Amino acid sequence: FVQWTPFFQTYKKQRYPWVQLAGHQGNFKAGPDQGTILKKLCIKEEKCFKVLMDDVLRPFVPEYKGIVKADDGECSFIQLQDLLSDFVSPCVMDCKIGVRTYLEEELAKAKEKPKLRKDMYEKMCQVDTTAPTEEEHKMKGVTKPRYMVWRETISSTATLGFRIEGIRKSDGTSSKDFKTVKTRDQVMKEFMEFTENFPHSVPKYIQRLKSIRTALETSPFFQSHEVIGSSLLFVHDKYDANVWLIDFAKTLELPENITITHKDKWKVGSHEDGYLIGLDNLISIFKSILEN
Ligand code: ATP
Ligand code: MG
Ligand code: MG
Repeated sequence: FVQWTPFFQTYKKQRYPWVQLAGHQGNFKAGPDQGTILKKLCIKEEKCFKVLMDDVLRPFVPEYKGIVKADDGECSFIQLQDLLSDFVSPCVMDCKIGVRTYLEEELAKAKEKPKLRKDMYEKMCQVDTTAPTEEEHKMKGVTKPRYMVWRETISSTATLGFRIEGIRKSDGTSSKDFKTVKTRDQVMKEFMEFTENFPHSVPKYIQRLKSIRTALETSPFFQSHEVIGSSLLFVHDKYDANVWLIDFAKTLELPENITITHKDKWKVGSHEDGYLIGLDNLISIFKSILEN
């Protein structure tokens, strides 16, 4: 496991190590105002947060407080509500939602020069020696688009519409080693460990996920965007439990003539993200835990 604390936060006179479960460490730092963090500015993400502040999804995303320039003036940051502030020694889980985690344009670009990649073939073999076809074994190479599509099948992304990115448990240990957690049973086992000793958290998570589901159904933002690589952040402590939508760096406005259901199977070019497939599976798995 890793103990990943990029900085300490101060809130209501409490000092606590901040928890970051994904992304590059240098992308985050403590915010200028209490209870806020700074994330390195991505124009596309900033645009999403601005729209989200006027959307029905607002209660379900961290509050966006504007752009902040770094002291050296080099790079800018967005200032966001620190979702951990109101918790005491929180347990945290990041689940990346959707049946794919790359953009249509990233796949299209990879297809432009489909040369054989030895490095990707080797990565594939490390996970599963039977994954490459006979042909690919012979060539000792796979193309990048082939690798991108395959990579989503080693976790639960392609089948369940979400995957676990990272978990920080109550004993303070963190793990990001969930890349091959794939089946419903495997995911359920991780969720049970995550909520172990916090039985109040499971019904609260279910309630909140259902509220998110309801809000998404009427959200103009959700209707008009392809939500890729975004996460649900689960946070609980011995008092409370909550879930928020985070990370909109790869969330794009849909092309004008395209609408999506967020539920239908993705085909190349359809822009379907499978967001609701992931959300419905999450609700179903937490419900199974409750019934256990
Ligand atoms: P990646 O694209 O690799 O997922 P990223 O750089 O886009 O990473 P995020 O996914 O937005 O970064 O956030 C990374 C981690 O930081 C999350 O998993 C979560 O642990 C933490 N985090 C992000 N935003 C917040 C927030 N507003 N409050 C508390 N924690 C947060
Ligand atoms: Mg993320
Ligand atoms: Mg991101």
